[in-house]
Amino acid sequence: MNALRSSLILNERVPMKPFSIFNTLSRKVERFEPLKPPTVTLYSCGPTVYLPQHLGNMRAYLFVDTLKRALRFHGYDVRHVMNITDVGHMTSDEDAGEDKVEKTARAEGKSPREVADFYIAQFKRDCAALNIELPPDADSTDHVSPPQSVLCRATENIGAMIALIERIIAHGYAYVAASGVYFDVEKWRGAARVGRLSRQSLDEQHAGQRLEHSPDKKSPHDFALWVLNQPGHLMQWDSPWGRGYPGWHIECSAMSMKYLGETLDIHTGGLDHIPIHHENEIAQSESATGHPFARYFVHNAFLVGMEGAKISKSAGKFPLVADLVAQGVDPLAFRLFCFGAKYRSELVFSLDALRAAQTNLNYFSEFASNVPDEAVAGPDSEWTAGYLERFSAELADDLNTPRALAVALELVHEAYTRNDKSIWSALHKLDSVLGLKLDERRLAAHAQFPAEILELQKKRDQARAERDFNRADALRKELFSRGYEVKDIPGGSTIAPRRNP
Ligand SMILES: [Zn+2]
Repeated sequence: MNALRSSLILNERVPMKPFSIFNTLSRKVERFEPLKPPTVTLYSCGPTVYLPQHLGNMRAYLFVDTLKRALRFHGYDVRHVMNITDVGHMTSDEDAGEDKVEKTARAEGKSPREVADFYIAQFKRDCAALNIELPPDADSTDHVSPPQSVLCRATENIGAMIALIERIIAHGYAYVAASGVYFDVEKWRGAARVGRLSRQSLDEQHAGQRLEHSPDKKSPHDFALWVLNQPGHLMQWDSPWGRGYPGWHIECSAMSMKYLGETLDIHTGGLDHIPIHHENEIAQSESATGHPFARYFVHNAFLVGMEGAKISKSAGKFPLVADLVAQGVDPLAFRLFCFGAKYRSELVFSLDALRAAQTNLNYFSEFASNVPDEAVAGPDSEWTAGYLERFSAELADDLNTPRALAVALELVHEAYTRNDKSIWSALHKLDSVLGLKLDERRLAAHAQFPAEILELQKKRDQARAERDFNRADALRKELFSRGYEVKDIPGGSTIAPRRNP
């Protein structure tokens, strides 16, 4: 009943509120205006599924999840697409090297599909542990009416990629050579559109990269839309140009447009995507459609400085969600740790910082566990007014999660100071963005009390209501001797396992 009521609170349609976000295109914090409010089309570059996603990767997905939740909190209806790259991502972000998924397949003696399935399942488990809400799996239909939320695999959208490449060729921005179909970067440069996102020249964009200059490419900067004549490549499809496979960049352009439409409201990714991957996505998409690809590009900074931390030594590489669990750290503490930093700032990973986040998680969790059913069913105390507004204002200020977290902590602190548990509606709404599963924690805590303990608590509440304080005190002592501590709050009591039994 309580859980039902709580979910009703979250599903209330709230009026849209102003929201601002840093747009990499303008290098400014801009007021966010979706094309068709309240709908927001959001596309996120997803994982390449050839290795487990480490915590650095997971920070990017936590950022997207928080952005999505914050937009919903502000009244927007978010349609989210994330791709799964299971073909075409080479060991260099350029076209050079080996296909990452096929490399793992060869090393592990599996098929590329088996490798992809294995790491997709692991990615989904890790997202679930971090309470990252993924869009539903796309079904295999080729006819969709955008916008719709999906998690989509590159290998299941080859038709959309071929159709997009045909449009680019028809507009004169791509050419067919023996080794593949290439995007004509020089022609795009002629349209003065190179470097709009990165604000770099082509040479700067590719600085430090060894460009493979296939003899049939017009320029070393040209990138493959479709790769041909690679008999050693395991995954191949028929195309108007011959059997082959797609380049990595075309996957994102084709799938985002297929499921969300030709102009996205927001495109997210890591800072490392700016100079090549996102520049190329813009070039491909806009040369095909003739209109803007994404109105806001929003990029997250990295998780850094893991060296020396015990947790990284134990893993021998960047730690994974499983390493957190093995160290006794709740994955949601990592979620809160990331929430405590601005998405545009580098975040230094350390076990100490993670433990501090765990302390905050325990603080919220312990409070939630002690919220009685009456406080869930009843209205919030008047003094909570204003906390939701402040929380909302911090998120609307370029997703200022550290300050929003401070507001949430302050709310709970004030509740403790006043010994007043009637803040559930507000706390629950804040948790729709924090993502700490406080509702589940409260219900689980209540479920763990044996019936006879709850019966004793009820008898004690009755005794107090009847002002039989001797009996109430005797019942309190009995509960204590059985390992439970009872605290009085307005209109009832809370019960918790004794801290030092
Ligand atoms: Zn992408």
